[in-house]
Amino acid sequence: MPGFRPDLVGCLSQGAAGNPTVAMVEAAFAHHGIDARYINMEVPPEKLADAVAGLRACGFLGWNLSMPHKVSVIPLLDGLGRSASAIGAVNCVVRHDDGRFIGENTDGQGFLRSLCDLTDPRGTNVVLFGAGGAARAIAVELVLAGIGHLTIVNRSPERGRSLQKALAESLATEAALVTWENEFEVPATTDIIINGTSIGLYDPDARLPLAINSLRAGQIVADVVFNPPQTRLLQDAAARGCRTLDGLSMLVNQGVLGVHYWTGVLPDAGVMQRALTAAMGL
Ligand code: NDP
Repeated sequence: MPGFRPDLVGCLSQGAAGNPTVAMVEAAFAHHGIDARYINMEVPPEKLADAVAGLRACGFLGWNLSMPHKVSVIPLLDGLGRSASAIGAVNCVVRHDDGRFIGENTDGQGFLRSLCDLTDPRGTNVVLFGAGGAARAIAVELVLAGIGHLTIVNRSPERGRSLQKALAESLATEAALVTWENEFEVPATTDIIINGTSIGLYDPDARLPLAINSLRAGQIVADVVFNPPQTRLLQDAAARGCRTLDGLSMLVNQGVLGVHYWTGVLPDAGVMQRALTAAMGL
């Protein structure tokens, strides 16, 4: 009941007991004097419906979801925001004033927020590596933000085609698709290059099949991989004179947007980033 205990926000995950985003979100609540708690809960897939019913019954303000719950939660909600609907996945649920629980996707929105600190994406030419969950969320937000042209580069043609089809059907956008077989040469007209794959996660030496000498000074190179924050790709890109954007800022900004959705307060991203890096031991 309001007034008798802090507001509650959940984080439904599987196998993520030491989730560092808990420290990040709770730091924002503490810094802004918000009387709320962010609680990590491990939920196996077959118990998701029970967990959602419990969160509704207990009056949670909302919750985050990580894999494998991002798609299977959709039928358990009362509606979807525009980008979550186009992406077909939800990582953030928000209780509205009328009591409805609406699914949002803050992964792509968090990326866009970080990107907008560096450049105005409208009209830009973008090359996006990957067509999985993170790449899909980013592609949708970039299209909604008004980029000029998108080239998807993905190893498996099926997943690439599925993203291409989703963009055509839900956003009437024609993206180019390249099947990633050899070292990809970045076209000279590219403004923004994004690694949306898991290559480099926990592997500081992992290299994308990408011709590094095709990167040009002034281009923006972004990576969704947040650990290590300075991936091999970002190091190579910086050495070529590119401007770089790490996956940590995307992770922080999806947290910023979540806190804003749940509480109406736009939190201090610096406070959240410091708490996150400390919790990650970086
Ligand atoms: P998915 O499993 O949905 O997609 C993985 C993607 O990576 C696919 O496109 C896959 O290609 C590609 N890939 C993986 N290995 C290779 C390889 N060796 N060569 C070429 N392509 C490869 O994962 P997610 O999209 O959920 O996550 C991707 C990354 O994004 C992870 O590192 C995750 O931690 C990070 N992430 C970061 C967030 C942030 O806030 N910074 C938020 C969410 C995710 P294929 O289709 O051919 O298999």
